Amino acid sequence: MSREKNEEEMRLDPWGVSFVKDYNRLMEEFGIKSIKPLVDIFPQAHRLLRRGIIFGHRDVEIILDAIKKGEEYAVMSGIKPSGDFHLGSKLTAEELIFFQKLSPKAMAFYAIADLEAYADNKIPLSESYKIAVSNVMDLLALGLDPKRVYVYKQSEEIRVLRLAFIFSRGVTYNMMEAIYGEKPFGLYFSALVQAGDILMPQLEDFGGPKPTVVPVGADQDPHIRLTRDLARKYQQDFGFVIPAATFHKLMRDLTGQLKMSKRNPMGMLVLTDPIDVTREKVMNAFTGGRATAEEQRRLGGEPEKCAIFYELLTVHFLEDDQRLEKIYWECKTGERLCGECKKEAWSIIKEWLIKHQEKREKMKDLAITLLEQHTLT
Ligand code: SF4
Repeated sequence: MSREKNEEEMRLDPWGVSFVKDYNRLMEEFGIKSIKPLVDIFPQAHRLLRRGIIFGHRDVEIILDAIKKGEEYAVMSGIKPSGDFHLGSKLTAEELIFFQKLSPKAMAFYAIADLEAYADNKIPLSESYKIAVSNVMDLLALGLDPKRVYVYKQSEEIRVLRLAFIFSRGVTYNMMEAIYGEKPFGLYFSALVQAGDILMPQLEDFGGPKPTVVPVGADQDPHIRLTRDLARKYQQDFGFVIPAATFHKLMRDLTGQLKMSKRNPMGMLVLTDPIDVTREKVMNAFTGGRATAEEQRRLGGEPEKCAIFYELLTVHFLEDDQRLEKIYWECKTGERLCGECKKEAWSIIKEWLIKHQEKREKMKDLAITLLEQHTLT
């Protein structure tokens, strides 16, 4: 169990099931600010910002300021290589790419959290490397600029490991337990390694202290709080700028469960799945439809509860705001029924997925090059 004041209302566990019923309450409790007043200041309003999926931030003004002044900044993200890219990995990857593209002065950092995959999922490093190649292929196909990214494996990045070790002097078991609840020590250590990931871009080897932003899901806030505390503690030694973060809402899986899990493959849309498998998942997704067509025409559907409308179209696959709004109102007023709606959604998703899979297939050599560039041997 992580820090959870009221389990019924919210739970933030970076390694387990998390949920938030009321994002305003979360922001109030943990001091996360709403990003809404800043959306128009971003040079581009990504659909995740326009639609309130990225809902909060800590100190993202430092990034907006760096963009305005044409100064360097870093955007940091990563993946635990425990499986192929699913919609959750796609979401974070798109945020990384968004911040990378906002300014030619932005440098992206992408950690392959192979140590965490071992600590959390017992995946041997040789195995997680193969998964990482596939993950980086997706990242590139989604639009990452390979010229302005540093991709590395945690297990081989000595600077990160050194920072984690130094940070271990700044925490006690009780502090870690207060943040994360009782966990195996390997997970506490991997949290320190993540703090190392987030602060490494500010080391002299990468040009020294600079604004850094970490786009994450709300469930990762414990890591952000720990890292910001450590940045303050070690500011005198390293000159760290306290890292900023943006937060996106947590997504349910396609069957309406709170967190995507490999134990429920029908709930997870994996970007490498064959097209017919994905079609089946979309067609079986949880909707906000009524029990009968007659009822739906009379009462209208509930798009807010619908995975087709929200998790698939709003969050991921439909860029066109007007078309999205049309679907929303047609559903609400009972003009639209779920069968036809799912077919329309599938045609949008299929087109996206076919293009993405074609692109990613061409990225293997580049993915290996990026991963090997920084290998310590
Ligand atoms: Fe969801 Fe479409 Fe059904 Fe509305 S009509 S509940 S948006 S599937």
